[in-house]
Amino acid sequence: MDLLKPADLVDNFTRALYKLAPYRGCAHGCRYCDGRAERYYVEGDFERDIVEKPTLPARLAADLPKARERGLVAFGSGTTDPYQPCEAVSNITGSCAELLVRGPLPPAGRLPALIMTKSALALRDLPLWKIHAAQAGLVLLVSLTSLDEDLRAVMEPGASSFAQRLGLLREFKAAGCATGILAMPFLPGLSDQEESIQRVYAAAKDIGVDFVMPGGLTLRPGRQKDLYLSCLGQFRPELLPGVESIYREARDSGTPTWEARKALESTITPLRRDSGLPFLLPHKVFGPILPAHDSLRLLLRDMIELYADRSIDTRMLKRSAEFYDSWLVAKRREFRRTRSLASSWLEDALPEAAKSGELRSLLDNPKLASFCETIILEGAYLDYVSLRLEPRSQ
Ligand code: SF4
Repeated sequence: MDLLKPADLVDNFTRALYKLAPYRGCAHGCRYCDGRAERYYVEGDFERDIVEKPTLPARLAADLPKARERGLVAFGSGTTDPYQPCEAVSNITGSCAELLVRGPLPPAGRLPALIMTKSALALRDLPLWKIHAAQAGLVLLVSLTSLDEDLRAVMEPGASSFAQRLGLLREFKAAGCATGILAMPFLPGLSDQEESIQRVYAAAKDIGVDFVMPGGLTLRPGRQKDLYLSCLGQFRPELLPGVESIYREARDSGTPTWEARKALESTITPLRRDSGLPFLLPHKVFGPILPAHDSLRLLLRDMIELYADRSIDTRMLKRSAEFYDSWLVAKRREFRRTRSLASSWLEDALPEAAKSGELRSLLDNPKLASFCETIILEGAYLDYVSLRLEPRSQ
């Protein structure tokens, strides 16, 4: 397997087992982009020296017949956009989409996909993604933190307008795709005010997206921070001293001071609760399109965040989640080592563990084990707002 190298564990953030990056660098040129940071080793000018990967579709075509593990394929990340302007000509993402939808059938079945973008160019491939949503699952994530076009023109100069992005979400939603808004990063002094965040949630509700994931700005010391502060200094110089102050600790992670993080959280929390929208890609969306073993790993990790958000003690849950991850990695490695195992072996492992009682002993938490058995054997899902189990048909 060349391109589709599955991870040992699905990624918490993207829910992906496989990642495809058709480009390196990003011409959208967001002033705050984390992809500029030195830790990603992107050489040259991040927004002009875009590296295209034209061999990606051929490599994907060669890999698909060998993909024994069903898992979500993520297009794009926080450091590149699969629908940035050069895609209009090179069509690398579009060719990969065509292959996922109509290309060689993997032994594990069609692989669901997730797209992260700030570009309305994704609409070009909507006919394909619509088919994929019905046959395997498709999730569209669009970044959007404000409705202020003047701000967008300065901070995200190459990306689609906010109105176009809302239109993109609307059309994908109408086509039967799952959709979510990555409402990050809210920019200090520019888009982190209550009224501004409220407008984003109102737009999200109006469209009916499946979730909104909010977040603040990180500024890693070096190129990323320097460029952002320089841009802010030209655009809104009066904000510069305050922003420099909250990032003065110069942490490697780029996070601002604890006080600044808490202040943003206290602005966002009531708004997101009022909205009734989950802040994580919900179990209801990923449960039906991912294998049960990966879905349960994500659910346990999400529950830690969801319960912590309600100030519920999560220590026992964390312990069980660690046990489960170790079990899953061992199963997965055994499956990869033993080529003679049927492609369904891994997908059958968790339902069998639930029926035999193995899951109960490995989680070492009877209440959680009963909850997981209901999900695995009866097809229920956890509602991320009410935190109640619901039958999957709802
Ligand atoms: S669209 Fe994403 S990857 Fe591209 S510059 Fe903006 S933040 Fe970075």
